[in-house]
Amino acid sequence: MPQFSVEQVRAIMDKTESIRSMSVIAHVDHGKTTLADSLLSRAGIISNKSAGDAKFMQGRKDEQERGVTIKSTGVTLFFEHDCEDGGGPQPHLINLIDSPGHVDFSSEVTAALRITDGAIVVVDCIEGCAVQTETVLRQALQERVKPCLFVNKVDRCILEMQMDVEEMYCRFRSAIENVNVIIATYSDTSMGSLQMDPGIGNVAFGSGLHGWGFSTERFAKIYAQKMGVNQAKMMERLWGDWYYNAKRKVWTTAQVDDLGELLQRGFCQYIMGPINQLIRAIMDQDAEKYEKMMESLGIVLKGEDRQLTGKPLMKHVMQTWINAADSLLAMIVTQLPSPKVAQRYRVENLYEGPMDDAAANGIRTCDPSAALMLYVSKMVPATDKSRFYAFGRVFSGTVASGQKVRIQGAHYKPGSKEDLHVKNIQRTVLMMGRTTEAIQDVPCGNTVALVGVDQYIVKSGTITTLEDAHNFADMKYSVSPVVK
Ligand code: GDP
Repeated sequence: MPQFSVEQVRAIMDKTESIRSMSVIAHVDHGKTTLADSLLSRAGIISNKSAGDAKFMQGRKDEQERGVTIKSTGVTLFFEHDCEDGGGPQPHLINLIDSPGHVDFSSEVTAALRITDGAIVVVDCIEGCAVQTETVLRQALQERVKPCLFVNKVDRCILEMQMDVEEMYCRFRSAIENVNVIIATYSDTSMGSLQMDPGIGNVAFGSGLHGWGFSTERFAKIYAQKMGVNQAKMMERLWGDWYYNAKRKVWTTAQVDDLGELLQRGFCQYIMGPINQLIRAIMDQDAEKYEKMMESLGIVLKGEDRQLTGKPLMKHVMQTWINAADSLLAMIVTQLPSPKVAQRYRVENLYEGPMDDAAANGIRTCDPSAALMLYVSKMVPATDKSRFYAFGRVFSGTVASGQKVRIQGAHYKPGSKEDLHVKNIQRTVLMMGRTTEAIQDVPCGNTVALVGVDQYIVKSGTITTLEDAHNFADMKYSVSPVVK
Protein backbone atom coordinates (compact mmCIF):
# COMPACT_ATOMS: atom_id res chain seq x y z
CA MET A 1 0.00 0.00 0.00
CA PRO A 2 1.56 3.32 -1.01
CA GLN A 3 2.40 5.70 1.80
CA PHE A 4 2.29 9.44 1.78
CA SER A 5 2.98 12.10 4.33
CA VAL A 6 0.69 14.55 6.07
CA GLU A 7 2.63 17.33 4.29
CA GLN A 8 1.73 15.84 0.89
CA VAL A 9 -1.92 15.64 1.91
CA ARG A 10 -1.87 19.18 3.20
CA ALA A 11 -0.45 20.44 -0.12
CA ILE A 12 -3.29 18.88 -2.14
CA MET A 13 -5.90 20.17 0.31
CA ASP A 14 -5.33 23.63 -1.16
CA LYS A 15 -6.16 22.38 -4.67
CA THR A 16 -9.90 22.23 -4.29
CA GLU A 17 -10.39 20.89 -7.81
CA SER A 18 -8.34 17.80 -6.85
CA ILE A 19 -10.53 16.82 -3.91
CA ARG A 20 -13.50 14.46 -3.93
CA SER A 21 -15.56 13.69 -0.85
CA MET A 22 -17.76 10.69 -1.33
CA SER A 23 -19.47 7.83 0.41
CA VAL A 24 -20.48 4.36 -0.64
CA ILE A 25 -24.18 3.63 -0.13
CA ALA A 26 -26.09 0.41 -0.59
CA HIS A 27 -28.73 -1.95 0.61
CA VAL A 28 -27.30 -4.19 3.31
CA ASP A 29 -25.26 -7.11 1.90
CA HIS A 30 -24.97 -5.65 -1.60
CA GLY A 31 -21.21 -5.33 -1.06
CA LYS A 32 -20.53 -1.82 0.18
CA THR A 33 -17.92 -2.79 2.78
CA THR A 34 -16.09 -5.18 0.46
CA LEU A 35 -15.86 -2.47 -2.19
CA ALA A 36 -14.74 0.21 0.26
CA ASP A 37 -12.00 -2.15 1.42
CA SER A 38 -10.79 -2.68 -2.13
CA LEU A 39 -10.50 1.11 -2.52
CA LEU A 40 -8.57 1.27 0.72
CA SER A 41 -6.13 -1.40 -0.29
CA ARG A 42 -5.43 0.14 -3.68
CA ALA A 43 -5.17 3.83 -2.92
CA GLY A 44 -2.46 5.33 -0.78
CA ILE A 45 -3.30 6.19 2.79
CA ILE A 46 -1.40 8.30 5.22
CA SER A 47 -0.85 5.94 8.06
CA ASN A 48 -0.03 2.31 7.67
CA LYS A 49 -0.91 1.45 11.24
CA SER A 50 -4.08 -0.41 10.41
CA ALA A 51 -3.09 -1.87 7.04
CA GLY A 52 -3.88 -5.54 6.96
CA ASP A 53 -6.97 -5.19 9.11
CA ALA A 54 -9.64 -7.10 7.28
CA LYS A 55 -12.25 -4.40 7.58
CA PHE A 56 -10.42 -1.15 8.12
CA MET A 57 -13.52 1.03 7.97
CA GLN A 58 -15.29 -1.08 10.54
CA GLY A 59 -13.44 0.09 13.60
CA ARG A 60 -15.70 -1.18 16.33
CA LYS A 61 -15.52 -4.72 17.52
CA ASP A 62 -19.27 -5.08 17.85
CA GLU A 63 -19.64 -3.92 14.26
CA GLN A 64 -17.45 -6.72 13.05
CA GLU A 65 -19.32 -9.19 15.14
CA ARG A 66 -22.61 -8.07 13.70
CA GLY A 67 -21.22 -7.59 10.22
CA VAL A 68 -22.82 -4.17 10.03
CA THR A 69 -20.98 -0.89 9.87
CA ILE A 70 -22.55 1.09 12.68
CA LYS A 71 -20.54 4.23 13.02
CA SER A 72 -19.44 6.09 9.94
CA THR A 73 -15.79 6.98 9.87
CA GLY A 74 -13.77 8.78 7.31
CA VAL A 75 -10.53 7.96 5.63
CA THR A 76 -8.45 10.07 3.28
CA LEU A 77 -7.08 8.33 0.20
CA PHE A 78 -4.45 9.52 -2.20
CA PHE A 79 -4.79 8.70 -5.86
CA GLU A 80 -2.92 9.76 -8.98
CA HIS A 81 -5.15 10.16 -11.98
CA ASP A 82 -4.11 10.84 -15.57
CA CYS A 83 -5.95 13.99 -16.55
CA GLU A 84 -7.31 14.50 -20.06
CA ASP A 85 -5.23 17.65 -20.58
CA GLY A 86 -2.15 15.45 -21.09
CA GLY A 87 -0.41 16.96 -18.07
CA GLY A 88 0.42 13.49 -16.72
CA PRO A 89 -0.77 11.94 -13.46
CA GLN A 90 -2.22 14.44 -11.01
CA PRO A 91 -2.52 13.70 -7.30
CA HIS A 92 -6.06 13.63 -5.90
CA LEU A 93 -7.40 13.36 -2.38
CA ILE A 94 -10.44 11.22 -1.94
CA ASN A 95 -12.25 11.51 1.35
CA LEU A 96 -14.14 8.28 1.68
CA ILE A 97 -16.86 8.50 4.28
CA ASP A 98 -18.23 5.18 5.39
CA SER A 99 -21.94 5.04 6.12
CA PRO A 100 -24.04 2.25 7.57
CA GLY A 101 -26.04 0.10 5.20
CA HIS A 102 -28.46 -0.90 7.91
CA VAL A 103 -31.94 0.64 8.13
CA ASP A 104 -31.65 1.32 11.84
CA PHE A 105 -29.02 3.95 11.24
CA SER A 106 -30.72 6.31 8.85
CA SER A 107 -29.49 9.43 10.69
CA GLU A 108 -25.93 8.14 10.39
CA VAL A 109 -26.33 7.89 6.64
CA THR A 110 -27.49 11.49 6.46
CA ALA A 111 -24.57 12.59 8.66
CA ALA A 112 -22.19 10.94 6.21
CA LEU A 113 -23.94 12.36 3.14
CA ARG A 114 -23.94 15.88 4.55
CA ILE A 115 -20.16 16.11 4.37
CA THR A 116 -19.81 14.45 0.95
CA ASP A 117 -20.52 15.74 -2.53
CA GLY A 118 -20.84 12.41 -4.29
CA ALA A 119 -21.84 8.82 -3.65
CA ILE A 120 -21.23 5.46 -5.22
CA VAL A 121 -24.45 3.49 -5.10
CA VAL A 122 -23.68 -0.23 -4.98
CA VAL A 123 -26.36 -2.53 -6.37
CA ASP A 124 -26.21 -6.32 -6.39
CA CYS A 125 -26.95 -7.20 -10.02
CA ILE A 126 -28.84 -10.34 -9.08
CA GLU A 127 -31.09 -8.72 -6.50
CA GLY A 128 -31.36 -5.39 -8.30
CA CYS A 129 -32.43 -2.15 -6.67
CA ALA A 130 -33.70 -2.99 -3.13
CA VAL A 131 -35.73 -1.05 -0.55
CA GLN A 132 -32.73 0.47 1.15
CA THR A 133 -31.06 1.30 -2.13
CA GLU A 134 -34.07 3.51 -2.70
CA THR A 135 -34.00 4.98 0.83
CA VAL A 136 -30.32 5.90 0.78
CA LEU A 137 -30.42 7.15 -2.79
CA ARG A 138 -33.32 9.45 -1.92
CA GLN A 139 -31.41 10.69 1.12
CA ALA A 140 -28.41 11.42 -1.10
CA LEU A 141 -30.46 13.34 -3.64
CA GLN A 142 -32.13 15.32 -0.88
CA GLU A 143 -28.69 16.44 0.30
CA ARG A 144 -27.73 17.25 -3.31
CA VAL A 145 -25.12 14.53 -3.34
CA LYS A 146 -24.39 13.37 -6.87
CA PRO A 147 -24.62 9.61 -7.41
CA CYS A 148 -22.80 7.19 -9.65
CA LEU A 149 -23.46 3.48 -9.78
CA PHE A 150 -21.55 0.26 -9.22
CA VAL A 151 -23.33 -2.85 -10.49
CA ASN A 152 -21.82 -5.46 -8.20
CA LYS A 153 -21.49 -9.25 -7.92
CA VAL A 154 -21.17 -9.77 -11.67
CA ASP A 155 -19.06 -12.85 -10.87
CA ARG A 156 -22.26 -14.55 -9.72
CA CYS A 157 -23.81 -14.16 -13.18
CA ILE A 158 -20.79 -15.88 -14.68
CA LEU A 159 -19.86 -18.56 -12.16
CA GLU A 160 -22.99 -19.33 -10.24
CA MET A 161 -25.79 -18.64 -12.69
CA GLN A 162 -23.87 -19.36 -15.89
CA MET A 163 -25.78 -16.68 -17.78
CA ASP A 164 -24.99 -15.90 -21.37
CA VAL A 165 -23.75 -12.39 -22.06
CA GLU A 166 -27.05 -11.10 -23.47
CA GLU A 167 -28.82 -12.25 -20.28
CA MET A 168 -26.21 -10.41 -18.25
CA TYR A 169 -26.76 -7.27 -20.30
CA CYS A 170 -30.53 -7.45 -19.61
CA ARG A 171 -29.90 -7.98 -15.90
CA PHE A 172 -27.59 -4.98 -15.70
CA ARG A 173 -29.91 -2.80 -17.76
CA SER A 174 -32.82 -3.59 -15.50
CA ALA A 175 -30.79 -2.72 -12.36
CA ILE A 176 -29.77 0.59 -13.95
CA GLU A 177 -33.32 1.36 -15.07
CA ASN A 178 -34.62 0.77 -11.54
CA VAL A 179 -32.15 3.28 -10.18
CA ASN A 180 -33.10 5.74 -12.90
CA VAL A 181 -36.78 5.45 -12.02
CA ILE A 182 -35.96 6.64 -8.49
CA ILE A 183 -33.78 9.44 -9.79
CA ALA A 184 -36.49 10.55 -12.24
CA THR A 185 -38.86 11.31 -9.36
CA TYR A 186 -36.39 13.88 -8.07
CA SER A 187 -37.39 17.21 -9.55
CA ASP A 188 -34.51 19.42 -8.36
CA THR A 189 -32.40 20.24 -11.43
CA SER A 190 -29.53 21.99 -9.64
CA MET A 191 -27.15 19.09 -10.24
CA GLY A 192 -28.02 18.75 -13.94
CA SER A 193 -28.97 15.40 -15.44
CA LEU A 194 -28.42 12.57 -13.00
CA GLN A 195 -29.54 9.66 -15.14
CA MET A 196 -27.23 6.67 -14.82
CA ASP A 197 -25.84 5.72 -18.20
CA PRO A 198 -22.87 3.44 -18.89
CA GLY A 199 -22.54 5.25 -22.22
CA ILE A 200 -21.39 8.39 -20.42
CA GLY A 201 -19.29 6.65 -17.79
CA ASN A 202 -21.20 7.11 -14.53
CA VAL A 203 -21.86 3.37 -14.17
CA ALA A 204 -19.26 0.70 -13.44
CA PHE A 205 -19.72 -3.06 -13.30
CA GLY A 206 -17.75 -5.74 -11.55
CA SER A 207 -17.06 -7.92 -8.59
CA GLY A 208 -16.02 -6.20 -5.40
CA LEU A 209 -15.27 -9.58 -3.88
CA HIS A 210 -12.82 -10.59 -6.61
CA GLY A 211 -11.47 -7.07 -7.01
CA TRP A 212 -12.27 -6.44 -10.67
CA GLY A 213 -14.48 -3.90 -12.34
CA PHE A 214 -14.76 -1.53 -15.27
CA SER A 215 -16.68 1.33 -16.78
CA THR A 216 -17.18 1.57 -20.55
CA GLU A 217 -14.49 4.28 -20.54
CA ARG A 218 -11.86 1.65 -19.75
CA PHE A 219 -12.69 -0.29 -22.95
CA ALA A 220 -13.58 2.70 -25.08
CA LYS A 221 -10.00 3.93 -24.71
CA ILE A 222 -8.73 0.76 -26.35
CA TYR A 223 -11.36 0.29 -29.05
CA ALA A 224 -11.63 3.93 -30.05
CA GLN A 225 -8.06 3.78 -31.29
CA LYS A 226 -8.48 0.44 -33.02
CA MET A 227 -11.69 1.45 -34.78
CA GLY A 228 -10.81 5.05 -35.50
CA VAL A 229 -13.74 6.53 -33.55
CA ASN A 230 -13.47 9.15 -30.84
CA GLN A 231 -13.66 7.97 -27.24
CA ALA A 232 -17.01 9.56 -26.29
CA LYS A 233 -18.66 8.01 -29.35
CA MET A 234 -17.09 4.66 -28.57
CA MET A 235 -18.42 4.79 -25.01
CA GLU A 236 -21.95 5.35 -26.31
CA ARG A 237 -21.61 2.33 -28.57
CA LEU A 238 -20.43 0.07 -25.83
CA TRP A 239 -23.85 0.27 -24.19
CA GLY A 240 -27.45 0.02 -25.39
CA ASP A 241 -28.68 -1.10 -28.80
CA TRP A 242 -25.49 -0.73 -30.77
CA TYR A 243 -24.20 -3.61 -32.89
CA TYR A 244 -21.05 -3.84 -34.97
CA ASN A 245 -21.41 -5.20 -38.46
CA ALA A 246 -17.91 -6.57 -39.02
CA LYS A 247 -18.55 -7.39 -42.70
CA ARG A 248 -19.43 -3.83 -43.59
CA LYS A 249 -17.31 -2.36 -40.79
CA VAL A 250 -20.13 -0.16 -39.51
CA TRP A 251 -21.99 0.29 -36.24
CA THR A 252 -25.74 -0.13 -36.61
CA THR A 253 -28.78 -0.13 -34.39
CA ALA A 254 -30.21 -3.10 -36.27
CA GLN A 255 -29.49 -6.44 -34.67
CA VAL A 256 -29.68 -8.35 -37.96
CA ASP A 257 -27.16 -7.80 -40.75
CA ASP A 258 -27.76 -7.70 -44.55
CA LEU A 259 -27.52 -11.49 -44.77
CA GLY A 260 -30.01 -12.06 -42.00
CA GLU A 261 -27.36 -12.97 -39.40
CA LEU A 262 -27.81 -11.94 -35.79
CA LEU A 263 -25.23 -9.39 -34.62
CA GLN A 264 -23.92 -9.15 -31.10
CA ARG A 265 -24.42 -6.06 -29.00
CA GLY A 266 -21.28 -3.88 -28.64
CA PHE A 267 -21.31 -4.31 -24.85
CA CYS A 268 -21.50 -8.10 -25.15
CA GLN A 269 -19.04 -8.50 -27.98
CA TYR A 270 -16.32 -6.17 -26.76
CA ILE A 271 -16.69 -6.19 -22.99
CA MET A 272 -18.75 -8.91 -21.35
CA GLY A 273 -17.85 -11.55 -23.96
CA PRO A 274 -14.09 -11.43 -23.38
CA ILE A 275 -14.53 -11.17 -19.57
CA ASN A 276 -16.86 -14.15 -19.56
CA GLN A 277 -14.61 -16.24 -21.78
CA LEU A 278 -11.47 -15.48 -19.80
CA ILE A 279 -13.05 -16.28 -16.44
CA ARG A 280 -14.65 -19.47 -17.73
CA ALA A 281 -11.44 -20.64 -19.42
CA ILE A 282 -9.50 -20.19 -16.16
CA MET A 283 -12.15 -21.89 -14.04
CA ASP A 284 -12.43 -24.74 -16.60
CA GLN A 285 -8.61 -25.07 -16.47
CA ASP A 286 -8.45 -24.57 -20.23
CA ALA A 287 -4.82 -23.38 -20.11
CA GLU A 288 -4.39 -23.16 -23.88
CA LYS A 289 -7.34 -20.80 -24.19
CA TYR A 290 -6.67 -18.56 -21.22
CA GLU A 291 -2.96 -18.28 -21.89
CA LYS A 292 -3.72 -17.16 -25.43
CA MET A 293 -6.22 -14.60 -24.15
CA MET A 294 -3.83 -13.35 -21.49
CA GLU A 295 -1.11 -12.96 -24.09
CA SER A 296 -3.34 -10.88 -26.32
CA LEU A 297 -4.32 -8.75 -23.34
CA GLY A 298 -0.68 -8.29 -22.35
CA ILE A 299 -1.11 -9.98 -18.94
CA VAL A 300 2.19 -11.55 -17.89
CA LEU A 301 2.50 -13.72 -14.79
CA LYS A 302 5.67 -13.30 -12.77
CA GLY A 303 7.45 -15.35 -10.11
CA GLU A 304 5.16 -17.31 -7.82
CA ASP A 305 2.09 -16.08 -9.68
CA ARG A 306 2.95 -18.59 -12.41
CA GLN A 307 2.00 -21.39 -10.02
CA LEU A 308 -1.54 -20.08 -9.58
CA THR A 309 -4.52 -21.99 -10.91
CA GLY A 310 -8.32 -21.90 -10.52
CA LYS A 311 -9.92 -19.15 -8.45
CA PRO A 312 -6.69 -17.51 -7.17
CA LEU A 313 -5.45 -17.30 -10.76
CA MET A 314 -8.78 -15.89 -11.94
CA LYS A 315 -8.74 -13.20 -9.24
CA HIS A 316 -5.13 -12.29 -9.93
CA VAL A 317 -5.61 -12.09 -13.70
CA MET A 318 -8.81 -10.08 -13.45
CA GLN A 319 -7.34 -7.66 -10.92
CA THR A 320 -4.33 -7.14 -13.16
CA TRP A 321 -6.44 -6.60 -16.25
CA ILE A 322 -9.37 -4.54 -14.96
CA ASN A 323 -8.74 -3.56 -11.37
CA ALA A 324 -11.97 -2.57 -9.57
CA ALA A 325 -10.37 0.07 -7.38
CA ASP A 326 -8.59 1.70 -10.34
CA SER A 327 -11.84 1.88 -12.32
CA LEU A 328 -13.74 3.22 -9.34
CA LEU A 329 -11.15 5.80 -8.38
CA ALA A 330 -11.07 7.02 -12.00
CA MET A 331 -14.87 7.21 -12.02
CA ILE A 332 -14.87 9.13 -8.74
CA VAL A 333 -12.42 11.69 -10.11
CA THR A 334 -14.11 12.15 -13.50
CA GLN A 335 -17.79 11.84 -12.55
CA LEU A 336 -18.15 13.24 -9.04
CA PRO A 337 -17.88 16.97 -8.34
CA SER A 338 -15.08 18.75 -6.49
CA PRO A 339 -16.12 20.82 -3.44
CA LYS A 340 -15.78 23.97 -5.52
CA VAL A 341 -18.33 22.75 -8.04
CA ALA A 342 -20.68 21.13 -5.50
CA GLN A 343 -20.83 23.89 -2.91
CA ARG A 344 -22.15 26.30 -5.53
CA TYR A 345 -25.45 24.42 -5.65
CA ARG A 346 -25.35 22.82 -2.21
CA VAL A 347 -25.21 26.12 -0.30
CA GLU A 348 -29.00 26.58 -0.44
CA ASN A 349 -29.48 23.23 1.27
CA LEU A 350 -26.59 23.58 3.66
CA TYR A 351 -27.08 27.00 5.18
CA GLU A 352 -30.00 28.39 7.18
CA GLY A 353 -29.19 32.09 6.83
CA PRO A 354 -29.72 34.56 3.97
CA MET A 355 -28.11 33.51 0.70
CA ASP A 356 -26.24 36.81 0.36
CA ASP A 357 -24.48 37.02 3.74
CA ALA A 358 -20.75 36.44 4.31
CA ALA A 359 -21.23 32.84 5.42
CA ALA A 360 -23.30 31.90 2.37
CA ASN A 361 -20.82 33.57 0.03
CA GLY A 362 -17.87 31.80 1.64
CA ILE A 363 -19.61 28.43 1.33
CA ARG A 364 -20.81 29.05 -2.23
CA THR A 365 -17.34 29.99 -3.50
CA CYS A 366 -15.49 27.50 -1.29
CA ASP A 367 -13.05 30.25 -0.41
CA PRO A 368 -10.20 29.27 1.96
CA SER A 369 -9.49 32.92 2.79
CA ALA A 370 -13.11 33.68 3.77
CA ALA A 371 -14.36 33.43 7.37
CA LEU A 372 -14.60 29.93 8.83
CA MET A 373 -17.80 27.91 8.41
CA LEU A 374 -17.38 24.34 9.61
CA TYR A 375 -20.12 21.78 10.08
CA VAL A 376 -19.68 19.10 12.73
CA SER A 377 -21.68 16.12 11.54
CA LYS A 378 -20.91 13.66 14.31
CA MET A 379 -18.99 13.09 17.51
CA VAL A 380 -16.58 10.16 17.27
CA PRO A 381 -15.26 8.54 20.47
CA ALA A 382 -11.47 8.25 20.74
CA THR A 383 -10.18 4.69 20.92
CA ASP A 384 -9.40 5.06 24.64
CA LYS A 385 -12.86 6.63 25.17
CA SER A 386 -11.26 9.58 26.99
CA ARG A 387 -12.89 12.11 24.68
CA PHE A 388 -14.82 12.66 21.49
CA TYR A 389 -13.52 14.07 18.25
CA ALA A 390 -15.83 16.51 16.50
CA PHE A 391 -15.80 15.19 12.94
CA GLY A 392 -17.05 17.31 10.08
CA ARG A 393 -16.21 19.38 7.07
CA VAL A 394 -14.87 22.84 6.47
CA PHE A 395 -17.19 24.56 3.99
CA SER A 396 -15.63 28.03 4.06
CA GLY A 397 -12.32 29.46 5.30
CA THR A 398 -9.59 27.47 7.03
CA VAL A 399 -9.62 25.87 10.47
CA ALA A 400 -6.41 25.77 12.52
CA SER A 401 -5.11 24.34 15.78
CA GLY A 402 -5.44 26.96 18.53
CA GLN A 403 -7.93 29.07 16.57
CA LYS A 404 -10.57 31.01 18.53
CA VAL A 405 -14.04 30.15 17.24
CA ARG A 406 -17.73 30.38 18.01
CA ILE A 407 -19.31 27.01 18.62
CA GLN A 408 -23.01 27.23 17.84
CA GLY A 409 -25.16 24.34 19.02
CA ALA A 410 -28.50 23.21 17.62
CA HIS A 411 -30.46 25.76 19.69
CA TYR A 412 -28.37 28.78 18.79
CA LYS A 413 -30.12 31.74 17.14
CA PRO A 414 -28.20 34.74 15.75
CA GLY A 415 -28.12 37.59 18.25
CA SER A 416 -28.67 35.33 21.28
CA LYS A 417 -26.13 33.68 23.56
CA GLU A 418 -28.05 30.46 24.05
CA ASP A 419 -26.08 27.37 23.02
CA LEU A 420 -23.09 29.50 22.07
CA HIS A 421 -19.51 29.01 23.28
CA VAL A 422 -16.48 31.01 22.27
CA LYS A 423 -13.46 28.75 22.66
CA ASN A 424 -10.11 27.83 21.20
CA ILE A 425 -9.80 24.66 19.19
CA GLN A 426 -7.08 22.60 20.86
CA ARG A 427 -6.00 20.60 17.85
CA THR A 428 -7.03 19.80 14.31
CA VAL A 429 -6.49 16.21 13.20
CA LEU A 430 -7.20 13.96 10.22
CA MET A 431 -9.27 10.88 10.95
CA MET A 432 -8.05 7.70 9.35
CA GLY A 433 -10.61 5.12 10.34
CA ARG A 434 -10.00 4.91 14.07
CA THR A 435 -6.54 6.45 14.00
CA THR A 436 -5.68 10.14 13.77
CA GLU A 437 -2.86 12.23 12.37
CA ALA A 438 -2.13 15.75 13.61
CA ILE A 439 -2.39 18.52 11.00
CA GLN A 440 -1.75 22.22 11.53
CA ASP A 441 -4.72 23.56 9.59
CA VAL A 442 -7.33 22.42 7.08
CA PRO A 443 -8.85 24.57 4.32
CA CYS A 444 -12.44 24.40 3.05
CA GLY A 445 -13.56 21.46 0.94
CA ASN A 446 -11.93 18.97 3.32
CA THR A 447 -13.01 16.84 6.24
CA VAL A 448 -11.39 17.34 9.62
CA ALA A 449 -11.70 16.29 13.25
CA LEU A 450 -11.34 18.72 16.15
CA VAL A 451 -10.05 18.09 19.65
CA GLY A 452 -11.31 20.18 22.57
CA VAL A 453 -14.86 21.05 21.57
CA ASP A 454 -16.64 17.93 22.76
CA GLN A 455 -18.11 19.56 25.89
CA TYR A 456 -20.05 21.99 23.72
CA ILE A 457 -21.52 19.86 20.96
CA VAL A 458 -24.01 17.10 21.53
CA LYS A 459 -24.37 15.65 18.08
CA SER A 460 -23.87 18.23 15.38
CA GLY A 461 -23.04 21.91 15.29
CA THR A 462 -21.73 24.95 13.48
CA ILE A 463 -18.25 26.33 14.11
CA THR A 464 -17.47 29.78 12.76
CA THR A 465 -15.36 32.89 13.12
CA LEU A 466 -18.26 35.12 12.00
CA GLU A 467 -20.20 37.06 14.65
CA ASP A 468 -23.51 36.95 12.82
CA ALA A 469 -23.55 33.62 10.99
CA HIS A 470 -26.65 31.45 11.16
CA ASN A 471 -26.31 27.73 11.72
CA PHE A 472 -25.93 25.13 9.06
CA ALA A 473 -29.35 23.72 8.27
CA ASP A 474 -30.52 20.74 10.27
CA MET A 475 -30.04 17.42 8.58
CA LYS A 476 -33.34 16.16 7.31
CA TYR A 477 -34.52 12.67 8.06
CA SER A 478 -37.78 13.03 6.25
CA VAL A 479 -37.36 9.71 4.52
CA SER A 480 -39.38 7.42 6.72
CA PRO A 481 -37.50 4.39 7.99
CA VAL A 482 -38.20 1.25 6.07
CA VAL A 483 -39.70 -1.65 7.95
CA LYS A 484 -37.45 -4.71 7.81
P1 GDP B 1 -22.50 -4.56 2.88
O1 GDP B 1 -23.50 -5.04 3.89
O2 GDP B 1 -23.17 -3.84 1.76
O3 GDP B 1 -21.36 -3.80 3.46
O4 GDP B 1 -21.93 -5.90 2.20
P2 GDP B 1 -20.55 -6.69 2.42
O5 GDP B 1 -19.45 -6.01 1.73
O6 GDP B 1 -20.38 -6.99 3.86
O7 GDP B 1 -20.90 -8.01 1.59
C1 GDP B 1 -22.00 -8.82 1.90
C2 GDP B 1 -21.75 -10.24 1.42
O8 GDP B 1 -21.69 -10.26 0.00
C3 GDP B 1 -20.44 -10.84 1.92
O9 GDP B 1 -20.63 -12.20 2.16
C4 GDP B 1 -19.50 -10.63 0.75
O10 GDP B 1 -18.45 -11.58 0.71
C5 GDP B 1 -20.43 -10.79 -0.43
N1 GDP B 1 -19.98 -10.02 -1.60
C6 GDP B 1 -19.60 -8.73 -1.64
N2 GDP B 1 -19.24 -8.38 -2.89
C7 GDP B 1 -19.40 -9.48 -3.66
C8 GDP B 1 -19.18 -9.76 -5.05
O11 GDP B 1 -18.75 -8.92 -5.84
N3 GDP B 1 -19.46 -11.04 -5.46
C9 GDP B 1 -19.93 -12.00 -4.63
N4 GDP B 1 -20.17 -13.21 -5.14
N5 GDP B 1 -20.14 -11.77 -3.32
C10 GDP B 1 -19.88 -10.53 -2.84
